[in-house]
Amino acid sequence: MKAIVIEKGEGGQTVALKDFPEADLMDGDVTVRISHSTINYKDGLALTGAAPIVRRFPMIPGIDFAGVVESSSSPDYKPGDKVLLNGWGTSETHLGGYAQKSRVPASMLVPLPEGLTARQAMAIGTAGYTAMLSVMAIDAVGVTPDHGPAIVTGAAGGVGSVATTLLARAGWHVIASTGRTEEAEYLKGLGAAEVIHRDELSGTPKPIAGERWAAGVDSVGSNTLANVLAQTKYDGAVTSCGLAQGMDLPASVAPFILRGIKLLGIDSVHCPRPRRFEAWQRLASELDLDRLEAMITTVPLEDVIALGPQILAGKVRGRIVVEIG
Ligand code: NDP
Repeated sequence: MKAIVIEKGEGGQTVALKDFPEADLMDGDVTVRISHSTINYKDGLALTGAAPIVRRFPMIPGIDFAGVVESSSSPDYKPGDKVLLNGWGTSETHLGGYAQKSRVPASMLVPLPEGLTARQAMAIGTAGYTAMLSVMAIDAVGVTPDHGPAIVTGAAGGVGSVATTLLARAGWHVIASTGRTEEAEYLKGLGAAEVIHRDELSGTPKPIAGERWAAGVDSVGSNTLANVLAQTKYDGAVTSCGLAQGMDLPASVAPFILRGIKLLGIDSVHCPRPRRFEAWQRLASELDLDRLEAMITTVPLEDVIALGPQILAGKVRGRIVVEIG
């Protein structure tokens, strides 16, 4: 079968599209014929070797896939069932989605929700599912649109684009922060009420500053997250899922102890199954599919390797769908 394979040799990591023996797929009770995958920031890290994501060689990268069950010894799935997968260590310790097939334990799969195609599910992918986990976390602490606006950082990226759409649909006044102000019309099309330049948030943060928003979805980290926290209204909530600017957090405790702000960590990889299933059900019913369509660029498997450096450079807009023939 055709697959993108990362290998490690004397000179370091190599990555190539090649034939991979099906007999070398990993243990699992379900074999899936993959029709679609996607490219997330973490896939860029794995494809380029910019961070030590891959911990087993050879590795097929790709943290997401969608397809049809080819064979199954699990009572939960039968041949022909439509399924998707996000995370669970794919591209780290388990072979991932940039291949025509994958074999996995049934517990790693999610049935494709009613109302979504495999292509739409991969347009959502880990980035969109993480955006939904972020929205759910803000809901869970009772912060609602009548408390004030919501800020989305890295708004033209994958997590940011889907978060913008979901929050706007839920009635939030969304402030989209981006380094690509030429994408203002794109972001307004997704539902952003205001677009600000990310330079406003990427400089050295003050411990606390004027109150601007009640909620935040941050995929950028570092100074940006610290500035978002410092400008969050009393009793507000901010989610943190990413590190596009950096892994540090040069903040003070002032927003927590003076304004009661909540900082909510989001992990998609090992998120428990019930919350995962709920996120996908909510995505199927709450995401505006026309707006999702506006985020999509479609590429063949052959183009994936070249897109790794592009996503790390912040040059990819919205979501990429990889079609696997
Ligand atoms: P994308 O590359 O699609 O989006 C990231 C966006 O961040 C870019 O588009 C850009 O937005 C912004 N950005 C990039 N570099 C900088 C910088 N130096 N300073 C400020 N902003 C910057 O990636 P994804 O949406 O797939 O992922 C976003 C982040 O979330 C990544 O760090 C990823 O690892 C993390 N993530 C974590 C998950 C988890 O489980 N915790 C799951 C999914 C993602 P713009 O051009 O609009 O400024």
